[in-house]
Amino acid sequence: MSARLDFLSRHLGPVGTERDEMLATVGFASLEALTDAAVPAGIRLTAPLDLPPARSEQEALAWLKSIFSKNKVLKSFIGQGYYGTHVPNVIGRNILENPGWYTAYTPYQAEIAQGRLEALLNFQTMITDLTALDVSNASLLDEGTAAAEAMSLALSAKPKGRAMFVSDRCHPQTIDVVQTRAEPLGIEIIVGDWEKFDPASVPNLFAVLVQYPDTRGRIDDFTGFFETAKAAGAVTIVAADILALTVLKAPGEFGADICVGCSQRFGVPMGFGGPHAGFMACKDELKRKMPGRLIGVSIDSRGKPGYRLSLQTREQHIRRDKATSNICTAQVLLAVMASMYAVYHGPEGLKHIARTVHSRTVQLKKLLENVGIETESGAFFDTLVVKVPGKASEVHEGARRAGVNLREIDADHVGVSFDETTTEGDVLVVLSAFGGAGELPIVSGPAWPSGLSRTSDFLTQAAFNRFHSETEMLRYMKRLESRDLALNESMIALGSCTMKLNATAEMMPLSWPEVSSIHPFVPADQSQGYREMLVTLEGWLANITGFAAVSLQPNAGSQGEYAGLLAIRRYHLANGDAHRNVCLIPVSAHGTNPASAVMVGMKVVGVKCDEKGNIDMPDLAARIEEHKDNLAALMVTYPSTHGVFEETIVSICEQIHAAGGQVYMDGANMNAQVGLTSPGRIGADVCHLNLHKTFCIPHGGGGPGVGPIGVAPQLVPYLPGHGELPGTSGTVCSAPWGSASINTISWMYIAMMGAAGLTQATGTAILNANYTAKRLAPFFPILYTAPNGLVAHECIIDVRPLSDKSGITVEDVAKRLMDYGFHAPTMSWPVGGTLMIEPTESEARVEIDRFCDSMIAIHGEIMAVINGESDASDNPLKNAPHTADMVCGDKWEHSYTREQAAYPLPVLRNHKFWPFVGRVDNVHGDRNLVCTCDTVEAYAAASA
Ligand SMILES: *Cc1c(COP(=O)(O)O)cnc(C)c1O
Repeated sequence: MSARLDFLSRHLGPVGTERDEMLATVGFASLEALTDAAVPAGIRLTAPLDLPPARSEQEALAWLKSIFSKNKVLKSFIGQGYYGTHVPNVIGRNILENPGWYTAYTPYQAEIAQGRLEALLNFQTMITDLTALDVSNASLLDEGTAAAEAMSLALSAKPKGRAMFVSDRCHPQTIDVVQTRAEPLGIEIIVGDWEKFDPASVPNLFAVLVQYPDTRGRIDDFTGFFETAKAAGAVTIVAADILALTVLKAPGEFGADICVGCSQRFGVPMGFGGPHAGFMACKDELKRKMPGRLIGVSIDSRGKPGYRLSLQTREQHIRRDKATSNICTAQVLLAVMASMYAVYHGPEGLKHIARTVHSRTVQLKKLLENVGIETESGAFFDTLVVKVPGKASEVHEGARRAGVNLREIDADHVGVSFDETTTEGDVLVVLSAFGGAGELPIVSGPAWPSGLSRTSDFLTQAAFNRFHSETEMLRYMKRLESRDLALNESMIALGSCTMKLNATAEMMPLSWPEVSSIHPFVPADQSQGYREMLVTLEGWLANITGFAAVSLQPNAGSQGEYAGLLAIRRYHLANGDAHRNVCLIPVSAHGTNPASAVMVGMKVVGVKCDEKGNIDMPDLAARIEEHKDNLAALMVTYPSTHGVFEETIVSICEQIHAAGGQVYMDGANMNAQVGLTSPGRIGADVCHLNLHKTFCIPHGGGGPGVGPIGVAPQLVPYLPGHGELPGTSGTVCSAPWGSASINTISWMYIAMMGAAGLTQATGTAILNANYTAKRLAPFFPILYTAPNGLVAHECIIDVRPLSDKSGITVEDVAKRLMDYGFHAPTMSWPVGGTLMIEPTESEARVEIDRFCDSMIAIHGEIMAVINGESDASDNPLKNAPHTADMVCGDKWEHSYTREQAAYPLPVLRNHKFWPFVGRVDNVHGDRNLVCTCDTVEAYAAASA
């Protein structure tokens, strides 16, 4: 064995002789020979990628550090939806910096995801309590997109709706995101002063949206307004500040139907705009149409409580173009952090933080008044708008010299928003920027009418009242972590999701203050480092995709789809082709594809796939012919979702172009392309990448993600813009660069890999998939291969023939894999009854073999059922997974042994992962929807 001397060789599983032996198993002499055979010659890149030479871990970190040294880290009292916060250190180190939390997948396999499901249930409980509404989801992408989702939810409740009112005192980026979403759907957005707006004056008004406290800091009582809005048939929506809700009357108590917002200031760094968890809570009658994920409590095979994702039928895969939203990856890790912040502080701690923030704001107002400076009138929580006629720039300069940023409103007004990090010293510093000086006054009682004070209790449940010592907190987080299977336990071979190495060096910059502590709206000269990193990454990704330009704004793959289709729509509109609204989508496409097409007002037309999983060319030709006058786009995944490089792709793109359409490529499978081929090379016009798949951002247990889009030259003018970027429009997310901070992860990856390294990674991913296919094919048929028998970077194994003979379902196989210590591959997608396996380049042969050995052992267990050696209903597959207390119990009444249940392979004796609950009952969970955690009383009663 040779030493591994560079980052590339650490990122890859197989290298050297191990790789050569695996190649021999697959039947090739070299990686080049394999990739030449796997990737059709007609689409291969003719020149290497144009990227800087690979750096070592140390060199790349030093390089990035030097770039980020160009940022200036000031305290930002800018507000507008983003606030300073102290990440509790115990949470920072044990969640944000802990691969046990950040490398987990979306909790689809409930039994090995109980830890984060509990944390997410805490999140829902927290949001439900703070908003005083009935149900909350976990979670959404940011506040702006949450407001846009609320619009869609309201519209689904009022299908005849046509217009929505949005208060002009909402955050500007929220208004922009809502307007972008409304336009293609033909919804009229009326922006104005809510005090002057008469809901009855607008026919078919379906919703009103206000902000609480509003963007200029004012707290209003919306009770009367909401009554008139409801009388006019509108759904009432509030965008609220999560910290303010601990001390202010809750939206559910003044008539809100839906409340949205962002949980950032609950211990999640600003990170120049993200990632953060947006939230949405609503009234009971709206819950079945609520977008995003809803965690619920069900029971497991032993009748014990088990958490799971509820109402999964709402997911896009099933509802497709009928889905109410395209949200897939959300912001799980950030929702977990925010919920843990509430667990850490508890209700009293949160109130104390809120009162302190408010007191500092009151102090500033009094001090300003003492020196004759006025603020805008009205009740306030943490934000003041200070009147400084003609002097705003002077004030800003003074403030910056003193190390703080204030909000730029206009020449006559300056905004100040205080937060958890604001000290008494900061109050005086801000005062001095306005030319004032003085002693801090003593303040008592809130500066809002008593009717607006919160009187109801919140967070009385056990979880928020038991873990307040650091020791208890540490153990709580560890306990939950140990219930979840993440990449630090075993490979997670999820086809299409690309669970590869998230290297430690890639993660480290996230903890640098110059990365984490920058407000997204700081003056450009303070974010020079950030801008340089982002522009560099855009350039690298443009080169990798073969496109003219890239936008990093979309904060998930689904948002990338939406942004890319929006670009196509805007392009057609600019060409006078408003009628082009048909989007062709193969039936095998990911569910977010049709959901996104509907969001931009397109009509989805399905295209068949042939028995090999390829796009059915005659059917495609027929659909093009049928819709050629109105063709807007084709959405296509490449290599196909069936894990095959279709040779016909170039011709497919040509046919769409000939009919006047644009080609949208879903780049989720970019891991099979990088360095070998590219969307641009193939002929696509726009493509989203999932940086949380191919480019090493960890899945975070279900988010964050980054879904940048690359576009061909004709679409460049239609990339997403932002109010903070002069001369641009079409905002899809709250922040100009979406989840800016985590782009450092992909930057580090590319910097350390270089062109040759990335290409070798792609080849190795193809090798690992073909090696897996080769080992499993004698036991489970490989559903689709290219004519030469090869797969791309993933393979689909067919369980149906065995299921037919044994009654053992693919779900039984998935649950049984847990007993072997593995997370199931992608189940029943894109084809029911199958498993889609994507090992990625990061898995070494020993791990792939361990997985294959487990699958082969499971095959043996299924054969035992078929042969009658094993009972058809009482067998290790049907009863899987087996928990420790099941196996250790005094009673064991099964027809197989305890050893067979828990230690089916000898290798498990070295290390065993125990699922925390038995199989979770899905039907029971949906029938008895419980989406919040227990109160202290219920907890006491249950444990008595
Ligand atoms: C993951 C995936 C998406 C959606 O991406 P998100 O980041 O989860 O929104 C879309 N298409 C395919 C094929 C995918 O695998």
